[in-house]
Amino acid sequence: MSSLSWLTSFTSRTKKSHERTTPIFFTNTLSGRKELFIPQRPGQALLYSCGPTVYGEQHLGNMRAMVFSDTIARVLLAGGYRVRRVINITDVGHLVGDGDEGDDKMAVGAKRERLSPEEIADRYTTIFLSDIQNLNLPTEEILFPHATDYIKEQIALAKTLEEKGFAYQLVDGLYFDTGKFPGYGKLGGVAESQQEAGARIAVVIGKHAPADFVLWRSAKPEDLQQWDSPWGRGNPGWHIECSAMSRALLGQEIDIHTGGEDHIAVHHNNEIAQSEAASGRTFVRYWMHNAFLNMAGEKISKSLGNVVCLSDVMKKGYHPLTVRYFFLQAHYRTPLSFSWDALAAASSALDRLWKLCVEIALESKRVSRPSEALDQFLVTIRDDLATPQALGILWETLKSEDYTEEQKWGLIEAADAHLGLSLISPPSRGSVDLRDVPSDVQELVARRSAARASHDFASADHLRAELEKAGYRVEDGPGGPVLSQTTH
Ligand code: AMP
Ligand code: ZN
Repeated sequence: MSSLSWLTSFTSRTKKSHERTTPIFFTNTLSGRKELFIPQRPGQALLYSCGPTVYGEQHLGNMRAMVFSDTIARVLLAGGYRVRRVINITDVGHLVGDGDEGDDKMAVGAKRERLSPEEIADRYTTIFLSDIQNLNLPTEEILFPHATDYIKEQIALAKTLEEKGFAYQLVDGLYFDTGKFPGYGKLGGVAESQQEAGARIAVVIGKHAPADFVLWRSAKPEDLQQWDSPWGRGNPGWHIECSAMSRALLGQEIDIHTGGEDHIAVHHNNEIAQSEAASGRTFVRYWMHNAFLNMAGEKISKSLGNVVCLSDVMKKGYHPLTVRYFFLQAHYRTPLSFSWDALAAASSALDRLWKLCVEIALESKRVSRPSEALDQFLVTIRDDLATPQALGILWETLKSEDYTEEQKWGLIEAADAHLGLSLISPPSRGSVDLRDVPSDVQELVARRSAARASHDFASADHLRAELEKAGYRVEDGPGGPVLSQTTH
């Protein structure tokens, strides 16, 4: 074996053993503590994330929940796990109040835009998928079940609950009887506040307890979405879709379930009650929740009307990954405050980081070596996704003189896999007119063209590298060199 191939295989073996052996810890909302991650089946992680209600454009708060769940998946993948991921698309049954009161969100969207609920769902699912792709979520590796495609499964689950004595029927629907499920409200220790919250909701005549919730809602004549069921025509309650779809796609017991912290009190406690009452088993081993994205001291939310979307960010000329970088600067369990100034700061930091990565790619020739910094990075990110500290290690190492370029590149590769910031191939900004770039850049382009014309390709390559360092990429088009900027 040549010394070079030995070194390459050594590096990859070392890298692998590091990646496999560092334990992963997550804070479990169920226990309120940080726990060692041990999946049901060795080497495989089943991950379900509550996704969007597709009646309007999702805001940056929703995007924080998506980047959070993607960071979990990336940490698991880099740790050697196979990850099966589901993000549900809610296209029926979600009322404005999150409980059993208020207008139906899909009907609100349909009325607003004079379209059918299906057309509304299609429109906003497309926008959602494009948004999360822009945030570097690998959509081709994720399952996106629509609630309306799982009506049969939701009815079957509600039927099981009724047969097992956990449900009762009223005129307006089939209800889950929380009094029959011992430990109801155990998630987040919200049993009592949950009861109080329930008591504030307009009382449905005949409900056994304020916290009881609808599994199947009887159709009102004006309901645009309705199906036949053993309880007459109607539509599913909101919570049952997640229980039914996670069961259909991931099985009765899953490893991780995520969502924003607003889902703890009602939605996730109700999911636990339905799933565990039906199966008699643990539903989820690790419950994980992200804190809110706020703006001017209030949660970003449609109902408060203080919404900023990824499209707004992109319209202002920011690269969408600026948002991802902005989120990763805070720990997922810490509330984060959005402002345009804070986003501008994140943008210039990410630009500088991308520029450093381009320089190191050239210096290291994309050869990676292990380092203490890499070990430290892995321990840190696997400690309940400590992304602010992980970013700190990355910055410190890339600016340090104590590491070789190859070690820095090794860290960049690992950071890219975990953080999804396109560090190994920073985006270009599209072509720029040669006349609009600084004169030293124009000169580098001219010298490179001259070198190519005289077949001095070594010099041409060197000049290309100089241009990359200056933040420009050059391609040779039919009409001469085409220049693009590599950072925002
Ligand atoms: P929804 O479409 O309202 O069901 O929300 C989709 C996901 O985004 C859920 O996991 C919510 O908990 C989460 N979410 C909603 N608003 C925010 C916010 N302001 N900050 C963080 N996460 C949020
Ligand atoms: Zn859900």
